[in-house]
Amino acid sequence: MLVDYTDNGERAKLLKNVKRVVVKVGSRLLMDVENVSARQRVAELVAEIAVLRERGLEVILVTSGAVATGMELLKTKVRPKSMASKQAHAAVGQCELMGLYEAASSAQGFHCAQLLLTAADLHDQERHLCVSECLASLLSVGALPVINENDSVCVDEIKVGDNDTLSAMVSSLIRADLTILLTTIDGMRERDMKTGALGRRLSVVRELDSELLAMAQGTDGNRFSVGGMITKLHAADMVTRSGEGLLIADGFDFSVLSKIFGGEDVGTLFLPARKMRMHAHQRYLAFFAEPKGELIVDRGAAAAVEKKGKSLLPGGILGLRGVFQRGDTVRILNVDREEIARGQVNFSHVELSLICGAQSADLEKLLGHTPEAEEAVHRDHLVVTK
Ligand code: GLU
Repeated sequence: MLVDYTDNGERAKLLKNVKRVVVKVGSRLLMDVENVSARQRVAELVAEIAVLRERGLEVILVTSGAVATGMELLKTKVRPKSMASKQAHAAVGQCELMGLYEAASSAQGFHCAQLLLTAADLHDQERHLCVSECLASLLSVGALPVINENDSVCVDEIKVGDNDTLSAMVSSLIRADLTILLTTIDGMRERDMKTGALGRRLSVVRELDSELLAMAQGTDGNRFSVGGMITKLHAADMVTRSGEGLLIADGFDFSVLSKIFGGEDVGTLFLPARKMRMHAHQRYLAFFAEPKGELIVDRGAAAAVEKKGKSLLPGGILGLRGVFQRGDTVRILNVDREEIARGQVNFSHVELSLICGAQSADLEKLLGHTPEAEEAVHRDHLVVTK
C-alpha cells in the first residue's frame, strides 16, 4: 500500500495549480443533519462555494438529493426500490432541490444552472462535447453549474448509477484540476481485513491498489445513501488516471472547503497517477467510448504499447473478440487478459481476423486490397489504461 498517514507537503504542491474544481455533495449531508433543514444546509454549502469563487476558483457542483428530497416531500420512509417510484421521487425532489440552490446562489450574488445528465450523454461523442462546451460557457458567464444524474429518465442501461462516478466523469470531461467528494466521514481509513475494524486515516494515497479496493468493500446502508467508499475509490481511479487529484473529506461542516484550500491535512488525497495529464481524445477513449471488441496481444506487442509508446501492429495480435468496424473503440488485452490500453481500430473484425499475426508486408495479399493503414491501432488513437 503506497500511502502516507500525514501530509508532507503534497496538498500544498497540488493546490498551487488548482483553478477548476468539482465538488460533490452526498444526500445525507443535505438531508440528514439533525435539526437543520435542507434549505439551511444548501445555504451553508453555497456560502462556502462563494468563498472559493472569490478566491478565483471555477467551481462545478455535483449534488445528490433529488430522491431524498422527494422522500421528504412525499413523506416516504423507505428508499423507493422500483424504477418508476425512484423516478417519481427524483422528479418531485429535483425541482425543490434546485429551488433551494437558486435561492442560496442569488443570495450570494450569482445564478446557478441545472444540468441533468445520463451516462448516454457522456458516452456519445457529440453529446459529450456539447456537455463540455455548455459547462465551459456556464463558467464563463459566472454561473454555478449544479449537476445531478437525470434520475427521472434513467433506465439501467443508460445509468451512471451514483454521483461519485458521475463526478469523476464530469471532472475528467472538463479537466478539473481537483475533485472533492464531500461525505459523512473524514476520508478513507485503514481497515483490518479480519475484524473489519477501522484504523488510521489515510492522508495521502500515492497509488490505488487492490489492497485499498478490498478495504473499501461494502456500504453503510443508510436510507439516503447510494454509493459507499468503493464508488469513491472508483471515482478516484478515473480522476487520478486522467492525471488529476481527488480528495475525500467530511462535509458535515462545509467550511472544510476553505480548510482544504488552506492546505490543511483533512480527508484523504489521491494523487494523480500520471505526470502528463491525458488529453481530451485519450479521456474519451479511456472512460467514455463504449468498446466494441477486444484484441489479445503477445508480450512483445504489450510491452511496445505499454512501455515504449508504440502503435499496435497486426503482427502482435494473437486473437480478437467482438464485432467491430474500422474506427470503433476496442480494448487491448495482454496474454493474462488484463486490459493494458484502449484505442480506435483501423480494421473491421473480419479484416483483422485475416491479418492478425501477419507482417506488414503481407497485409495487401491477405486482405486482397491495399490497406489504408498498416497499424491495427495507431498510437495517436490509443491510450494506455493500465
Ligand atoms: N442522483 C441521486 C439523487 O439525486 C443520488 C445518487 C447518489 O447519491 O450517488 O437522489
